Amino acid sequence: MINVIEKIQSTGGKTAFSFELLPPLKGNSLDGVYYTIDTLREFDPKYINITTHRSELVYRKKPDGSSELIAHRNRPGTVAIAAAIQHKYNIPVVPHIICSGFTKEETEYALIDLQILGINNLLLLRGDKGKHEEVYTPVGHRYATDLQGQVNRFNQGFFLDGTEMNVAMQPFSYGMACYPEKHSEAPDLESDLKYAKMKVDAGADYLVTQMFFDNQKYYDFVEKCREAGIHVPIIPGIKPITLMSQLTVLPKIFHTHIPDELAEALRVCKTDEEAVEVGVEWCIRQAKDLIAHGVPSIHFYSLMATESVKRVAQAAY
Ligand code: FAD
Repeated sequence: MINVIEKIQSTGGKTAFSFELLPPLKGNSLDGVYYTIDTLREFDPKYINITTHRSELVYRKKPDGSSELIAHRNRPGTVAIAAAIQHKYNIPVVPHIICSGFTKEETEYALIDLQILGINNLLLLRGDKGKHEEVYTPVGHRYATDLQGQVNRFNQGFFLDGTEMNVAMQPFSYGMACYPEKHSEAPDLESDLKYAKMKVDAGADYLVTQMFFDNQKYYDFVEKCREAGIHVPIIPGIKPITLMSQLTVLPKIFHTHIPDELAEALRVCKTDEEAVEVGVEWCIRQAKDLIAHGVPSIHFYSLMATESVKRVAQAAY
């Protein structure tokens, strides 16, 4: 299977397009996932990311009004969704492998399953903390770099218990995350950069950024990365705003600055439909500017924004 970097480089200099999908809640069909792909495939996505969610505690109300915990997972596995998509569309998939909520052994079995399915591209992440957690509490690996160590060892042909594989496998190619405006838990950008460099030195083929709304933050970050000796592609991740509430929610959750002009335009919106229009216009401007700067690829955070991403791609590509 061709890897993400080869796919991006196969465009003859044109900026590549990718987007991501969220596995549906347990008990639901994949129709929503397929709808997103059917809507966006005309833009020739070079690959599709499949997000992974840590355990989500599911409660049921009891007749006496109290709640009982009935499950720890609420979505089907990313491995299965990734396989279904690759099988149906023959577009490379990039499942997210996360530390959070998964034991090292569960991760190993996901890697084995992916090998069997011929899926060799991954995005390695720590994962978010659970809604029920005050702070991130690892059950397996603490940091994405620890998970990377496990994948690297697997790529060398070794299991967690030190035993060697009997068959040659196709090593995983993988990307990892980076933060133009620093990760929310990092003391400063320099510390974050140190870990980004560690990821690349240990084998990450590329980095994908957290969403940002001010392209200058991305350009400055790329420059700092290059100065720090990080020379892999740094794929910008952008998202069209779709809700008025994202004006306050996104900076809080993702430590992402909303530029004054965008904030002002959102503040005067009276409905989410108006916010969608503002979000699309802003994202088109961002995408056009990134393309003009010759970025190798743009990754769209398309969750709950399929129609908006379609409009952005139509206008910018
Ligand atoms: P890390 O690289 O482990 O960094 C976490 C923090 O620890 C940072 O502050 C960093 O500076 C610091 N740090 C890193 N390495 C070390 C080290 N070795 N020693 C000490 N400190 C260290 N979340 C999900 O749950 N599911 C998803 O599918 C998902 N997809 C994402 C896709 C992209 C492109 C991005 C950018 C994020 C995604 N996230 C997802 C969110 C991500 O999991 C969170 O941002 C998470 O809080 C950090 O992940 P990370 O891989 O950057 O962690």
